[in-house]
Amino acid sequence: MESSIPHHGSCNGGPALIRYTVDHLITMAGDPEVLSPGVVDVDGGRVVWAGAEPDAPRHEGPVERLAGLLMPGFVNTHAHSPMVLLRGAGEGLPVDRWLTEVMWPREGRLSAEDVWWGMTLGAAELLGNGITTSHEHYFFADAAAEAAAAAGLRAVVTAPVLVGADLARFGTWEEQLEGIEDLVDRYAGHDLISVGLGPHAAYSLPEEALRAVVELGRRRGLHIQIHVAEGRHEGDVIAEKYGMTVPAYLEWLGMLDCRVVAAHCVWLTEEDIALFARHEVGVAHCPMSNGKHASGIAPVTDMRAAGIPVGIATDGPSSHDRLDLFEEMRAALRYARLRSGDAGAMTPADVLTMTTREAADVLGRPDLGRLAPGARADMMLIDTAPLGPVIEPSDLITHVVYSGTPALVRSVWVEGRQVVADGRPTTVDVDAARREVATRAARLAAET
Ligand SMILES: [Zn+2]
Repeated sequence: MESSIPHHGSCNGGPALIRYTVDHLITMAGDPEVLSPGVVDVDGGRVVWAGAEPDAPRHEGPVERLAGLLMPGFVNTHAHSPMVLLRGAGEGLPVDRWLTEVMWPREGRLSAEDVWWGMTLGAAELLGNGITTSHEHYFFADAAAEAAAAAGLRAVVTAPVLVGADLARFGTWEEQLEGIEDLVDRYAGHDLISVGLGPHAAYSLPEEALRAVVELGRRRGLHIQIHVAEGRHEGDVIAEKYGMTVPAYLEWLGMLDCRVVAAHCVWLTEEDIALFARHEVGVAHCPMSNGKHASGIAPVTDMRAAGIPVGIATDGPSSHDRLDLFEEMRAALRYARLRSGDAGAMTPADVLTMTTREAADVLGRPDLGRLAPGARADMMLIDTAPLGPVIEPSDLITHVVYSGTPALVRSVWVEGRQVVADGRPTTVDVDAARREVATRAARLAAET
């Protein structure tokens, strides 16, 4: 790593036992339910107890009184957060042209420092918006992991495997795969960072590359994050060459024997959905990105009805363009209703589940997305003063989904450590990160 990248060591162990009492609590231990008032006990970065205040166990030690609603931090199931460097570029293009004409030429000029600063600003935005875990996929995954850890963001980092004429500087797919095991070893046991594999897509990699990814995934027990059926004609090349849909092709390659998180999944057949359910594939649903690129409306209610866990995701900030899961929840809910013509097709409780507990299940992380004994103390405090009226306690769930915004996020904790206070990230110099990203973005946009 180049010397201009600031280094931060990983910190181990969260703060000692503390009790938080709060006006309203949603634990997401089960279906969303508002407990008023609520209590969460945190010790060493883990939740040791969470529930209604009258049921709380005896406590000796510090107590912090919070105003508002305490709930699990959001889990973002698919993102390329360093793409804050490319935000706004390629507006008005479908995904294929957006990638090949605008993104890849600029990304071919990326340095590790660019990614470090992009991830630093991205992490500040994610945390400020109440997102405590992000499933990341980007070039220079080592720089992205380091920046996320330094910002105090929990990141599941998948190292990209992707080749293209504009991307020659990242080497062959064989060379890309070589570095991944080192990254896996470096972050083994880290309290914030874990590492998986990120083959870009079935259409953008040769069969032997995908087979090598599967071999490495099996050998090291790594999960795989991959784009699937985002654009309508994305599968044509696989159908022509192999006579299969993309999910069937991935199964034929043996990839579905690994744990797979499939992003987008807009154009799936009924058989594809059954196949994914059988192999316990998790799906990352990116409604805002799918809308921006006119990719289509994913069959989310069908996938969930088949038993597939679906998490809501921002995708990269050049596709959304904000790293804002409040907005994604509303988009997911409205798209599901428009697709089905049923005003009850998806509920606020559904989408809140799909940004917390179910999103964690997509990542195979039962320690995330809920405030329950043994879970990571990843949580956010939301200002409820503008959210009303509250006639029934459950109204607060409706209001958070329909009227919630990042501006209402007052405090955020990851692994029990506070990383946002008074609505501002405490771990990142945001102004400095914005300046760095602006300068670097201009260089990447230049033709030379
Ligand atoms: Zn993506």
